[in-house]
Amino acid sequence: MDERAFYNEAPATKPVTLNCPYCHTSDSYDVRWMVRKKKDRIPSGADERDRARFQKAQSYMVLMDDKVGCKNLRCRKRFDISGIKTMAFI
Ligand SMILES: [Zn+2]
Repeated sequence: MDERAFYNEAPATKPVTLNCPYCHTSDSYDVRWMVRKKKDRIPSGADERDRARFQKAQSYMVLMDDKVGCKNLRCRKRFDISGIKTMAFI
């Protein structure tokens, strides 16, 4: 069974403070996450192995964006999102 069957997926946007490496301006950016919330009950058709995996499964979210555009109007360069975790348990 695919691990994805254990979760309900929903996109979410959360603000994060990032520092532009070009102009060194720090600002808040809305970055996109995919939230995988563990289902209340195991999907039907699960075997014993799936059951053990489901038990250990935890809700988590993964970062979807890898770049943002600098908000500084005099810069506006795109830079990599770094310094934040790309995966987090929720
Ligand atoms: Zn910048």
